[in-house]
Amino acid sequence: MRCSVKDILVNDGDSTEISGSIEYDTLENNGDTITFTTPIEFSGELVNTNGDINVTGEIEFEYKVKCHRCGEEFNSALKCDVNELYTVTETDNSYLLKGDEIDLEDMIIDNIHLNLPIKFLCKDDCKGVCTICGTNLNNKSCNCKKTETDPRLSVLTELLK
Ligand SMILES: [Zn+2]
Ligand SMILES: [Zn+2]
Repeated sequence: MRCSVKDILVNDGDSTEISGSIEYDTLENNGDTITFTTPIEFSGELVNTNGDINVTGEIEFEYKVKCHRCGEEFNSALKCDVNELYTVTETDNSYLLKGDEIDLEDMIIDNIHLNLPIKFLCKDDCKGVCTICGTNLNNKSCNCKKTETDPRLSVLTELLK
């Protein structure tokens, strides 16, 4: 997603609005595979700040990912704000302003990584899977739990013998 900043490079403070989208199938994020179900949309503003380009805006997309607890794939969405700088000499805190052009793709992907959750759960109270039989406990319960003995109960069973 390259865009020309030629028109706003002339005067300090000049700005222009920008919007566009990038198509990605998947993205690896800390061992999780994010599968995009919509294009990655970006809309924002480019501002000439003393010859550097300040990019502010919003990233928005929908995706599918596997739940960390039950392993089922579920739908989610991300919406996040960005505020980045493009400079003629690239630094640790900025992206490269190449001539009169900037490329938003790396910046957008970096911000997606920064804003995706660390833990993916299909729902806050996901019950996960039974460690014995593998049943997804969100869908149905299994009988394994009944064989689990509560220490307090076993004392009682002993007493009743
Ligand atoms: Zn789950
Ligand atoms: Zn079970």
